[in-house]
Amino acid sequence: MNTPDPLRRSIKSLPDDLISQIAAGEVVERPASVVRELVDNAVDAGARRIVVRLGSGGVRLIRVEDDGAGIAATELALAVRRHATSKIASLSDLESVRTMGFRGEALAAIGSIAELVITSREQSDSAVDAASARMLDARTGEIEPAAREVGTTVEVRELFFATPARRKFLKSDATELAHCVEAVRRHALARPGVAFEVWHEGKLIEQWRAGSALERMQSVMGDEFADSALDLSFEAGPVQISGWIGTPDVARSRADMQYAYVNGRYVREKVSTHAARQAYADVLHGHRQPCYLLFMQVDPQRVDVNVHPTKIEVRFTESREVHQAVFRAVSQALARPRAGQESGQKSSQVGGDADVSEGQGQGHGHAIEPQVQARPWSQGAMHFVSERGNQSFGQSFGQYASGRVGDDAMQTLQALWGQPKPADAQSPPAQSAEPAEPVEIWPLGRALAQLQGIYILAENAQGLVIVDMHAAHERIVYEGFKAQLDAPGANVSTQALLIPVTFAATAQEVATAQSSELALVRLGLEVTAFSAKTLAVRSLPALLAGADAVNLVRSVLAELAQHGLSHVLERAEHELLSTMACHGAVRANRRLTVEEMNALLRQMERTPRSDQCNHGRPTWRQVSIKELDALFMRGR
Ligand code: ADP
Ligand code: MG
Repeated sequence: MNTPDPLRRSIKSLPDDLISQIAAGEVVERPASVVRELVDNAVDAGARRIVVRLGSGGVRLIRVEDDGAGIAATELALAVRRHATSKIASLSDLESVRTMGFRGEALAAIGSIAELVITSREQSDSAVDAASARMLDARTGEIEPAAREVGTTVEVRELFFATPARRKFLKSDATELAHCVEAVRRHALARPGVAFEVWHEGKLIEQWRAGSALERMQSVMGDEFADSALDLSFEAGPVQISGWIGTPDVARSRADMQYAYVNGRYVREKVSTHAARQAYADVLHGHRQPCYLLFMQVDPQRVDVNVHPTKIEVRFTESREVHQAVFRAVSQALARPRAGQESGQKSSQVGGDADVSEGQGQGHGHAIEPQVQARPWSQGAMHFVSERGNQSFGQSFGQYASGRVGDDAMQTLQALWGQPKPADAQSPPAQSAEPAEPVEIWPLGRALAQLQGIYILAENAQGLVIVDMHAAHERIVYEGFKAQLDAPGANVSTQALLIPVTFAATAQEVATAQSSELALVRLGLEVTAFSAKTLAVRSLPALLAGADAVNLVRSVLAELAQHGLSHVLERAEHELLSTMACHGAVRANRRLTVEEMNALLRQMERTPRSDQCNHGRPTWRQVSIKELDALFMRGR
């Protein structure tokens, strides 16, 4: 047979241009990818000011000007050659790379799919003559003298002009512009010491001045995030974490405010995302997405940045350690009760304009001791510290977070909520008693009154505190359960009822009670079958001694039946604890005495995550004197 097989062609090396175009397919998805690469290069050149000018969402024009070190005239042609880089020279360099770029393919790839002109003047060039800059047209390869200060301008026009198929995938100019701005934002967050400007069609649309890490966070992340942001700083082995996380109430429906950096490089990788998500699990229900800005510093030898053409993914050699560090850093910050802090978390932030890429951290040193507080609930013998009097306003509230809630505290709670009061007990409406202590002592203040049987009003140094008493109590009880279950093999502390409570049960309830005995015991419940149609509740969780036993047991049995488990899986267990906490928490319309209200406030101050209820809603709000003055148009 002489006819050549049409599928069989001879093997040839591809021409350089085509190789670059293929590489461009990976590196350049849209104008924003070009912006990212060019800003990467400016940052690597040590620029202090970077200006991005765009036309038609970046499709028509992307121009990035920097005041970095510049490119030597003799090397200009090399810069646009494939696999030409000044950043690494050997494999060992690759293993400890600290620059954003290192693959030497961005400019070559961009030049293969767009018009590319680079004008640069090198720093070491001592000539006073501004015309000693050089301009390279990547298409023709021609180099001409040009006028420019020290630094580099890279101009990219008509992106994808040669690959119309690609161009078709582009969205509207407005959308592409938004992506470009986002690309600059990602750089800006990690480099507070560098000034950034973004222009579109001749109009300045974003500007971030050089300043401290805190200032940059505020201006880039916006007020809503910044006003409630909790700072964090954590070190564990080879991993160092700093940054800010948003409280659950600024969570969003989309994951569009999650910024994670590894050694100054913006990344989207699973380890930290998962760890952060998990840390929020307890305070964020449903599909809400947390907001955060996390800077991870990891020994470069332990990070592989060369796993993705755009370097947006990285691989950690010790991913468990990174996961754990992120999880702890975030959960700790969330667990720190925030009463009395009122944006005070920011005051400890001092300006560090150090670039993370230079390995100097974020420059916001502050005083929480991560290792000590890492798991306040799990450590050894717990005892309740009565801090009254030795805790002054302004001290680290981490101390509250690390305060142990132990047996004594549980007794306090039991005493408060454990004994049901006759519903008609007409204790006089709670009035503010003489202040036993100056108001400043307690972050959540001194209780004044109860409002509509739902809210507790208290007075603290900042003004008025309003507490949703059911939500707050629910969280306290839930955290109490978790603390009790933390010891291996432990059960929820239980308390026998003097007189068992019996109730008429369905066959299903009786069956579940019998098959789930162990699970029930773990939850602090003793439920036995009295007859084929009657169940008896003999013990309740000590924390819920006053709860409606029948309702509580019914809900727990219903959930157990639904999960169909005799052994309670961890997931279901948390749900069950939360159900129990909800049942046991003080109900609306329960009249509380001032002492009870104060006890609840003090308990909140000691309980991790007590700023949200188990459903992620806030448990308390501060209304400042300033806000009250404003309400009454009262000038001071
Ligand atoms: P890489 O950044 O991976 O080295 P690029 O193709 O992005 O590859 O850039 C090639 C080289 O051009 C860089 O290594 C650097 O030496 C030089 N270069 C590019 N942009 C700039 C800039 N803005 N300032 C100084 N040098 C630059
Ligand atoms: Mg580069």
